[in-house]
Amino acid sequence: MMSYSEKYPIRQERLIDGFLEMIAIDSVSGHEASYRDYLQARFDELGFAGVEDDAGQRLGGDSGNLLFKLPGTMNRPPLLLSAHMDTVVPGHNIKGELAQLDGHQIIRSAGPTILGGDDKAGVAALLEAIRVIIENRMDYPPLEILFTVSEEQGLLGIKNFDFSQIGAPIGFVLDSGGDPGTIVVQSPCQNEIEYRVRGIAAHAGMNPEEGRNAIQIMGRALAKMPCGRIDPDTTCNFGVIEGGLARNIVAPFCRVKGEARSLDRSKLDKLTEELGSIFTAEVIANGGEPEVEVVLLYPEAALQAEEEVVQLALRAAENIGVAPRLESTGGGSDASIINDAGIRCANLGIGMKKVHTIDEYIRVEDLIADTAWIISIIRQAADGYTWRLDPAGSSL
Ligand SMILES: [Zn+2]
Repeated sequence: MMSYSEKYPIRQERLIDGFLEMIAIDSVSGHEASYRDYLQARFDELGFAGVEDDAGQRLGGDSGNLLFKLPGTMNRPPLLLSAHMDTVVPGHNIKGELAQLDGHQIIRSAGPTILGGDDKAGVAALLEAIRVIIENRMDYPPLEILFTVSEEQGLLGIKNFDFSQIGAPIGFVLDSGGDPGTIVVQSPCQNEIEYRVRGIAAHAGMNPEEGRNAIQIMGRALAKMPCGRIDPDTTCNFGVIEGGLARNIVAPFCRVKGEARSLDRSKLDKLTEELGSIFTAEVIANGGEPEVEVVLLYPEAALQAEEEVVQLALRAAENIGVAPRLESTGGGSDASIINDAGIRCANLGIGMKKVHTIDEYIRVEDLIADTAWIISIIRQAADGYTWRLDPAGSSL
């Protein structure tokens, strides 16, 4: 096939069968237990026991995050590799099928569901990579392999993970779109913002003048607030509106759920502040009572091209004949939280396409390239990497 598949003795059929087996296991966020058991069993076969944390109990799910610590064959700093176990909906009774698309062999969902390649492609490639390394007695550094839960619910699993268990100074999350070779070096911070207006209820026909219509006040405020793209780094959105009680009651409340994102924390802070003050001023001017609630969903992450974590992924890609690309993304991932915990971490593109839709698919050759890339990363780390603290590399 392609050069990278010949570089290492990857068992392609086992990789594809394993991926199909994985996507057939339901693991919608909060219900990852069967998939956790499956992964535990696969690592058991290789002689590694996992440790599950209490994130499941804390989040009301049926599984926690699952961590495997492979001691490695050499004295090197550990390397963290991570992927998430949960999927979005519709994700029950997924059945995958092989098909052809534009001259490429692909795996897609045979039914009206997502494929679940987000993130089971990452998990399947990671498992095959570990199998190849162990079976072929390749040298490898200590590995910390972390499978998280409820990533799709706002990175909830990783947010409930105890990082004191991790010794790795650098890590990789296998969970980005983009072809294999894509290294996400920049991701935004995001605020979840809720705007609430309290008005006064009154009968809409008999005494509307005694009421204060929260929906109308909200409308006036929204009309004055920026929305959409603010600058190349920064966006905001109003996503949900709800309020009022009935057609014939002057609406006593209204609520809008929105968000703001930026690659730059100071721009996010400035925009959030500006949105809040316009909203507050407009609501008060129109006789309502304003309330604004802001929650930081995840912090920004920025890696420098010359940093070890980026260089390692870059060299590893070149080593297997895959062209590396450094990219910036518009969303957070488990890597955002891992970076915030002080571990320099890049999210890697694994070729998943049209994720979160029933048209989701992945090319078989990308699944193989992912596996080769992960093996190559582990082999590069085995050759040694020097960890240095780069003050310019941290903007957290
Ligand atoms: Zn994902």
